Amino acid sequence: MESSWLNPKLSVMVSEKHGKGIFAKTNILKGERLAIFGGDILLIDEIDDLPEELQEYPVQIEERFVLYNKTLKKPDNTDFFNHSCDPNAGVNGQIFLVAVRDINKGEEITFDYAMTISESVGSNIVFEMDCNCGYENCRKKITENDWKLPELRERYAGYFSQYIQDMIDKEE
Ligand SMILES: [Zn+2]
Repeated sequence: MESSWLNPKLSVMVSEKHGKGIFAKTNILKGERLAIFGGDILLIDEIDDLPEELQEYPVQIEERFVLYNKTLKKPDNTDFFNHSCDPNAGVNGQIFLVAVRDINKGEEITFDYAMTISESVGSNIVFEMDCNCGYENCRKKITENDWKLPELRERYAGYFSQYIQDMIDKEE
């Protein structure tokens, strides 16, 4: 019984840039669903209770909540989507990952973690990551406040997790 779904057109492979990554086995059209994230609903601080090697994988679905299968002992296939600052995937709703453009066979599937991650006020969990994606627009440091950047709001309109889109809409 799987708690998440990976499109069978994708497979986990060794990634030059990232250790492991998820790659397209065939051409994929813009809009195709790539994955469905699933699992248990955890308070963000419950990430601390997961095995240490899995703590980087939960998907944030609300300011205070993340999604992850608590029973996993090793990463799930859907855990290997890497971040890039020029991604070919984006979020639809809170748990669907979709292609934001046509993707060629062999390409690594990436999304921008700014699409799902935001600061959880009062939490001990703080997200920050170095990025070496190599794209011209690389931010180098990826933080939990990147969704606030105007250029990202413009570029990723329609591809933020719904809970972040709601925060953006409230401000604008
Ligand atoms: Zn980058």
